[in-house]
Amino acid sequence: MSVTSRVAAPHVTRKAPPFELGKLPYAEDALAPVISASTIGFHHGRHHATYVKTLNDMVAGTPLADRSLVEIILAVAGRPDQQVLFNNAGQVWNHDFYWASMAPKGGGLPKGKLRDKIDSDLGGFDNFKKAFTTAGNTQFGSGWAWLCLDAGKLKIVKTANAELPLAQGMTPLLTMDVWEHAYYLDFQNRRADYTAAWFDKLANWEFAAANLDKGLTPHRSKRS
Ligand code: MN
Repeated sequence: MSVTSRVAAPHVTRKAPPFELGKLPYAEDALAPVISASTIGFHHGRHHATYVKTLNDMVAGTPLADRSLVEIILAVAGRPDQQVLFNNAGQVWNHDFYWASMAPKGGGLPKGKLRDKIDSDLGGFDNFKKAFTTAGNTQFGSGWAWLCLDAGKLKIVKTANAELPLAQGMTPLLTMDVWEHAYYLDFQNRRADYTAAWFDKLANWEFAAANLDKGLTPHRSKRS
């Protein structure tokens, strides 16, 4: 597998249930000291694993049992009667994307087209950092902060619970989990310390840049 394809796509292919819990793209202790092995162990091995199991149990024997994860998400998004299924499917996808959004030697400055676009669309790297971490810090309760591509422009988005920009017609480039289970063992209530350290030390700009390249490639129409 080439480096490009490894960073360009979530590391798990989710064509049809039953889905498996994907392997982490690094060791459980590789993100320490920002995120401890204990946090990753619970987060991946318990939280993410439970979303996968619940999703599999819910779709087994239903018309969604031969659909891909994204097809399942889009089929139930916005339907109040399908909220529990949406929550579990969305959280499976969000966590796959979150693990890939971090790198053991992440952080620093993005390069190339991504850096240029941050300058032109978001007013420069410092403004981007402030907007992204503020999105994470101000998401009331559980949720996610995202860097997205929306109609060709970079945009900072925050979503609640299992909501995801994919279901809103945007292309996600990077995400940061701000559910308490993502940081509480390491930072307790200091969410702002987690989001700052996450951005400075873990953000996987290569992954974001690869997603930007894919999002800007007109390989198919973007009708929603
Ligand atoms: Mn989580």
